[in-house]
Formats: sequence, C-alpha cells, structure tokens
Amino acid sequence: MQAYSPRIVHVRPELDCMPEYVPGESPEAFNMRTGIPIDRLIKLNSNESPYGPSPAVLDALRSHTWYNNYPDTNATALRAALSAYTQLDERFIVLGHGSMEIISLLWQIFLSVGDNILCCPPTFSLYLTETTLCGASVVEVPRLPGYALDVEGMLAALTPETKLIVLCSPNNPTGNPISEADLLTLLETGRIVVVDEAYVEFSDQPRGFAHLVPRYRNLVVLRTFSKWAGLAGLRIGYGLFPEWIATYMRRAQCPFEVNVAGHIAAIATLQDLPYIMGNVHKIVQERARLFEVLASQPYLEPVPSQGNYILARVVGPNVTPQKVRSVVESHGILLRYFSQSHLRDFLRVTVGLPEHTDKLAAALATI
Ligand code: PMP
Repeated sequence: MQAYSPRIVHVRPELDCMPEYVPGESPEAFNMRTGIPIDRLIKLNSNESPYGPSPAVLDALRSHTWYNNYPDTNATALRAALSAYTQLDERFIVLGHGSMEIISLLWQIFLSVGDNILCCPPTFSLYLTETTLCGASVVEVPRLPGYALDVEGMLAALTPETKLIVLCSPNNPTGNPISEADLLTLLETGRIVVVDEAYVEFSDQPRGFAHLVPRYRNLVVLRTFSKWAGLAGLRIGYGLFPEWIATYMRRAQCPFEVNVAGHIAAIATLQDLPYIMGNVHKIVQERARLFEVLASQPYLEPVPSQGNYILARVVGPNVTPQKVRSVVESHGILLRYFSQSHLRDFLRVTVGLPEHTDKLAAALATI
C-alpha cells in the first residue's frame, strides 16, 4: 500500500490562516467546564428561542412515518409554504442546512482566490471565515458611531475584485437594521449585495427586504428558522435569490437539501404562525425589560436592538467582561463574549424568558 506523503497531498494553505468561527458554548461543554448541571443552565449566548418549537411541530415530527425515505429534492411543499410566507414566487427560494450552509455555498459560487468581500464590523464573524476558506479577503469598512453603515466609506473601498457586499439586518451583534436608502445605493454598485436577515422577525420591519428581490438581479436575502421559530437544532435556512443565482445554488448544492425532519418542522411552523408570532411578540416585549435591567447597572451600556439579543459595553474602571463572566457563570448563566479586538469590552445577552431576565438581574446586582 502506498504511504501517505505530505509532500504530494497537502491541505489548502487557506486553512492554516483561517480565523475559525467560534460558536457560543454548548450546554454540554459548559457543564464539563463548570460542573453546573445542564438543567440549571440559563443559555443566553446563541440567540436561540427560549420557547422552542411550536407543539404542532412536535406532533408532526412524531406522526411522520417515512423517515426511511430521502427528502423531496425539490422541497415542493416547503417552498410553497415559504412562498406564501415571504410573498415571493417559489422560483426565488433555495433551502439550506441552516443559513450558514447557504452562506458557505454562496461564497463558493462567487469567490475565487484574490477576490474580496466588503463587510462592516462589528458583524457576524462567519462571513470572514468563509471568505478565507475561498482564498479571498475581507475589506472592512467599520461602522459609524451608533453603528450605522458608512456608505460613503463603502463606496470608496470597492475594488474591481469586490464580488460581494455583505450586510446583516438587524446586525449581529449591534442589533440595528440597515435603511432601504442605504441598500438601494449599494445595489447601484452592481456587486452582489447579501442581506442576512436571520433576526428580521424581531425587528420593526419583519418583512425585511424580500419584496426587492424580484426587482434586482444582484440582491440576495438570507433567512433562517433557527431564531424566531425555535428550530436551531434542526438546521433549516433559506435564501431569496434572483433566479439566475438560485439556479447556480441548486446546481452547487447537495441534492437532498435539509433533512426530512427539517422539512416537516418548517412546514408545521408556517402552518402555526399565530402561535410562533405570539412567542416572537413576548421576546420583543422582554427585550425592552432586559434593556432596562442592563441599563440600570452602572458598569453596563446596552445598545438598543431590533434582534433577540442586546449588546452591552462593559465600562470600567473596576468591572471587566471577565469579571461579569465569572459572576454570572457562577449563577449558571451563559452569555456571549468576544475575542475580536473591537468587541473585547462587550458582551451580548440573548433575550430569554422573564425568569431568565430576573435571574440575570440578581446576578448582575452582586457585581
Ligand atoms: N446569520 C446570522 C447573522 C447569525 O447570527 C446566525 C446564527 N448565529 C446565522 C446566520 C446562522 O444561522 P443558522 O442557524 O440558520 O445557520
């Protein structure tokens, strides 16, 4: 048998300089690290829904009997349900194994070695990871004070190699949406503009920019069932694409996109919208109370948010994010902390149940 030779077969060099995407810590890892039992944990670090899926989803998953068959390649029923939800024709809709997979595929379709994407930090760090994996680079145009986009700066930073302009609305982690005027200006550049709307259902404009997709050949809108629908564990995302990009996405992706359980859960969610939207409404109300709790701590400056999370700056001199972390973790509460230099003084809190806010308030008051 021929021995493996690292001189003949080697890993692509991009992998060695790739900034890895670090997800929020899992309950299992937190339990291993701290010894706190999983059932005492309050998980406010990954923007998941504290309400979970609709009971109709659990019933539908239980009563399905064809798990031995592959999913419907065309996802006919789910795309029809999504068409009604988004008010867009099915031909614009492509499903993915979470919106992360859609991001990965879209990046692979457009980015070759030497290309770049335009991004506005602080934002979702997966965009950077996927870009590096493609051998491309990120041109960063930092946000203005208050976190609005610096559109003039973005236009000035475009290069002939810029293939994607990537926006997140509401932005993770700052929570602010982009304006339609800024989006239209950026669409005029002719570059593919990607608007990641993972949190749009929690915002003041829950329909987002889907309605613009049929009008522009260069607008892509990304969505997910992970946040508002309480289905992060089942991995169901979708994108709204101009038809020509949708065709390439389908060509590039695995024929059996999203597992059967994901199809069933997403359809049952869309058939039970009043229940799920009731939970979204509760989260939006709780967000206002969480904001007050954070703002009432002398060492925290929360940022107004239209997502299901709030970013807060830890202002010294005697309190650091590490100090907050050690105190809240001793109460079994997981928050999101950041390693990027521009976010080192910040933490992010997912909006949970009212009793989660109460427990967090009690823990923060001891600092
Ligand atoms: N986009 C943003 C802005 C996110 O915050 C997340 C999840 N953290 C995702 C996409 C990925 O979501 P999904 O679970 O659909 O892969």
